[in-house]
Amino acid sequence: MAAEIKIALAGNPNAGKTTLFNALTGARQHVGNYPGVTVEKKEGLYECQGRMVKIVDLPGTYSLTAYSVEEVVARDFLVGERPQVVINIVDAANLERNLYLSTQLFEMGIPTVIALNMMDVAGDRGISIDAKKLSGLLDVPVVPIVARTGQGLDELMRQTVDLALRDRPWQAADISYGADVDQTLLEMVEKIEAADFLTDIYTSRWTAIKLLEVDGQLREKGEAANRPLYEELGRMVERLSAHTFKTLETYPEAIIADYRYGYIKSILMQGVLSHKYDVNRLHTSDKIDRVLTHRFVGPLVMVAVLFALYQFTFGLSTLPMAWVGDFFALLTRGVNQIMAAGPLKSLIVSGIIAGVGGVLGFVPLIMLMFMGLAFLEDSGYLARVAFMLDRIFRVFGLHGNSVMAYIVSGGIAGGCAVPGVMATRTLRSRRERMATLLTAPFMNCGAKLPVMALLIGTFFAKYQAGFMLFLTILSWVVALLVAKFLRLTILKGDSTPFVMEMPPYRFPTFKGLLIHTWEKTWRYIQKAGTVILGISILMWVMMSYPGISKDDAQTIHQQRQEITEGFAPGDSTRQRLLAKLDSQQAELALRDSAAGHIGIFLEKISWLAGFNWRSNIALLGGVAAKEVIVSTLGTAYSMGDKNGVDSASLARTLVASPGWNPMVSISLLIFIMFYSPCFITVVCIAREAGSWRWGLFSIFFNTGFAFGLATLVYQLGLFLGFGG
Ligand code: GDP
Ligand code: MG
Repeated sequence: MAAEIKIALAGNPNAGKTTLFNALTGARQHVGNYPGVTVEKKEGLYECQGRMVKIVDLPGTYSLTAYSVEEVVARDFLVGERPQVVINIVDAANLERNLYLSTQLFEMGIPTVIALNMMDVAGDRGISIDAKKLSGLLDVPVVPIVARTGQGLDELMRQTVDLALRDRPWQAADISYGADVDQTLLEMVEKIEAADFLTDIYTSRWTAIKLLEVDGQLREKGEAANRPLYEELGRMVERLSAHTFKTLETYPEAIIADYRYGYIKSILMQGVLSHKYDVNRLHTSDKIDRVLTHRFVGPLVMVAVLFALYQFTFGLSTLPMAWVGDFFALLTRGVNQIMAAGPLKSLIVSGIIAGVGGVLGFVPLIMLMFMGLAFLEDSGYLARVAFMLDRIFRVFGLHGNSVMAYIVSGGIAGGCAVPGVMATRTLRSRRERMATLLTAPFMNCGAKLPVMALLIGTFFAKYQAGFMLFLTILSWVVALLVAKFLRLTILKGDSTPFVMEMPPYRFPTFKGLLIHTWEKTWRYIQKAGTVILGISILMWVMMSYPGISKDDAQTIHQQRQEITEGFAPGDSTRQRLLAKLDSQQAELALRDSAAGHIGIFLEKISWLAGFNWRSNIALLGGVAAKEVIVSTLGTAYSMGDKNGVDSASLARTLVASPGWNPMVSISLLIFIMFYSPCFITVVCIAREAGSWRWGLFSIFFNTGFAFGLATLVYQLGLFLGFGG
């Protein structure tokens, strides 16, 4: 009878492969060699429910990176012969180390069954393992066995044959290796797929990972297949190596290994593994984790860390922000002195300096926030935050991996929803992923920070850190509630288990922090100089043209005549009235502009939430990019005041303006936090969700929702008497 099913046994040396192989095949064995090498190849037959199963005992390996002959042989067999299933035999008494190989099988994508061997030894050592939980988390069958006595073998083979007969295609698991490596991996995968580089043998991500791990065999195959591309990929690897060495003092291979262990660790920490004895033999990282991820202490530490972060950033940034503000004020005064009044001057002062300067004014704050965030990320603490929040997220129909997407989007203030939306790729369930990527833009990204800092600093100066913490928590609460709503309505479905990489704690190097901080800050500055500059100019045009209407110009002209005729040239009342008339004229010009018309039109409903027409213009600009909100407010108010406005004086202007009060600013903050994602994010959502409809959904749903919430809060505030 010919074998219908072919399976392979893979595992670390001494995990019990040969014992299992002998127990299954008995005398029906055949020993040979793998082609070209002196590694022994054992094949045998096993009969299960009338089906013949061919079993191949692979050489024992700790990894599937081709560093040794055994590794090459094992890997070649798996990709070349494509057995339907691989039984990964794992020593239960050394679970953590043994699962390292498993992670690579998952990344390869081959259907896998885990045989949890040596359960007797584990039991003797006081180790207990929840196989069912482990199976759920890894998303593969896990069968406890004792190969030496044959216990559990029938069940193992039943599950194996079941899986083999299901004949599902290979599915590569995506393990995250941290921001730096993931980014390079994505870029490499794109190139690999575009050129079909080795894709007949390996999945593109696998190839990219192995190149980063400096895999010897891939080098030969790669050079033979497409030398120029191989060399290009090599340069990408070198660039990343240089980068990680500078920032983390380590190489991609080591980072990859760390994250694989982190992935295993987070599984074992979820109640899969418990020791009866031996608790004192924990590593430093484990000891730290006993405190920082403790059920009660952990969350308290987390809130304290966030509060400290905000104290640190707001406290240290006040002074340098004032300097930058002074600089732009000086620049404005300079331009005012040397240039004659006219459209060009208005463009430079009200469009460019107020716009770009308004955004750049916040660089010190952004930079410190990024630095704090880089510290939390590089130290490994962020992964623990995700781990702790997983339990809460589950209640809302999300997933521990959603936490990372939120944090990347600005969950701790100062991220960006674009990489956040892309980070949802690690979610296996489509519904969980959609719920995450639609709510991730609710986080306080770096672009929202300036307007938040402006409004908080203007109206709640005494409680900046506390207020920021409050808004952070609010953004999470709202995102979770909306996610729950989506999961109960349009995205109904089950949840999947959570597994997350938990790298060991390490103290970030100062140099690494500086580099990571600078990279992000520089991107922010570049954006101010390009996209924001462009949008600011566009907004300025919309706010300047078609210009003041004939009637309004006529009225102003008449009043001016009355004043000049009624008072002597040196009279101070005359000066005051003329200045007032000037700003009235500027305001009328803004009202009569294209943007003004839209803003005034929107006032018909926006008054419900307390927004005046100038705010409406700014919010409209914010759909293009959130940074533009501050700069447009700056432009809107500096057009009413020909002296120009920097962020400090914008704050003063707002406090003095009619129609502005703390309640309005709260309402506005809420709206800004939750309304339409910026244009780039919308494009990204549409692309990741695979349909333009989801992009449109996020624009209209979020804006409607934000407006409803802002109105509710504003009206409630008025009702309670906070409007004054
Ligand atoms: P391989 O290197 O993976 O082929 O491992 P072997 O099958 O040679 O097993 C290594 C050692 O572990 C041998 O001494 C086996 O007898 C022993 N062994 C294998 N399975 C079990 C088990 O389930 N329980 C116990 N106590 N010992 C086992
Ligand atoms: Mg053996």
